[in-house]
Amino acid sequence: MSEDFYAEMEQLLREQRREILESIASEDDDFRGMVNAMGIKDLGDIAADDIASKKMEALNQHAARRLQGVEAALTRLKNGRYGVCVQCGAKIPEERLRAIPSAVLCVTCKSGEEGLRRRAW
Ligand SMILES: [Zn+2]
Repeated sequence: MSEDFYAEMEQLLREQRREILESIASEDDDFRGMVNAMGIKDLGDIAADDIASKKMEALNQHAARRLQGVEAALTRLKNGRYGVCVQCGAKIPEERLRAIPSAVLCVTCKSGEEGLRRRAW
């Protein structure tokens, strides 16, 4: 995968991160107050550590999970593990990453996971 691709994914992930944070801020007065108290003008500038140390657990769970997924992908970009399936170590195709920039499983593992879940029900 090329440098350009990683740069593109980083930008996509940062945009998603900002969108999630904005949606949290729009429906959570406490979160908005926390952001104001930290003197942050741009939601995209909030560090993951800040969010985690403040009140991640109090946030909208769906948004919090998405945010964690995006943060995890950004971390993997930084440490060079981006685009590698966390389960089997296979390379995740670029098309899949473009569609889901925070994907951490290859298609095979992902469908295996869903199959397991279906059987469990
Ligand atoms: Zn896999």
